Amino acid sequence: MNYIKFLGTAGARFVMIKQVRASAGIWFSINETNFIVDPGPGTIVRINKTRPKLPLDKINAIYLSHRHLDHSGDVNVMIEVMTEGGFKKRGILLCPEDALKDDPVVFQYTRKFLDKIEILKPNTRYKVNNIEIETGINQNHGCETYGFKIYSEKIPIIGYIPDTQYFSQIIDSYKNTDILIISVVFYEKRDGILHLCLSEALNIISAIRPKKAILTHFGTSMLKNKIWEKQEEIKEKTGVDVIAAYDGMIVNF
Ligand SMILES: [Zn+2]
Ligand SMILES: [Zn+2]
Repeated sequence: MNYIKFLGTAGARFVMIKQVRASAGIWFSINETNFIVDPGPGTIVRINKTRPKLPLDKINAIYLSHRHLDHSGDVNVMIEVMTEGGFKKRGILLCPEDALKDDPVVFQYTRKFLDKIEILKPNTRYKVNNIEIETGINQNHGCETYGFKIYSEKIPIIGYIPDTQYFSQIIDSYKNTDILIISVVFYEKRDGILHLCLSEALNIISAIRPKKAILTHFGTSMLKNKIWEKQEEIKEKTGVDVIAAYDGMIVNF
């Protein structure tokens, strides 16, 4: 079975700190390959509590889009999960170089448990079991930040746009995506802050025209404005099936 499970949908700081939404990242199971993306604080709690149970003994990889705490808080404990407490050397960590260098978010001692660390570069393909993960351009987010497109036999192309300021090259980088996951922190534009707002996300979606777009990584303003009640309006505006993710949401394909 191929599916994506949104363990957490929290963006910005206050939604994370107060756990208004969980900050537990996104789980992918595709063609027998399992990996977690951006395991923020609380991932270890959510992956153990969620039902149906996730195959925690069969995690192939952990993907870190960037080093910020809401994405990396539980990366070390997830390495322990993937490697069965560090006793089984296995699995791949994919992350930008600055997650490993000065003030690293991945501890030296947990790195030793891994089979491999893939240092993310722009527009590069990485093989994980029987899927391929291709990074996009470096996003504009104040630290090295990479989204991806996933390719595997008989599955739609799945794109993930993590935190970024809007810039036009994003559209080119994620074109041909069938299912597009997009991090939308703000309801309205806030100058000088390196995050997407709703209108910018909708511009990207209208230009790329995926079969399905999933909004996630919400800040306070997206929740206050009840983004989940605006799905129909957004569908009409963009002509695309756009849904707002919620904690525990599963998308099958
Ligand atoms: Zn974030
Ligand atoms: Zn960030």
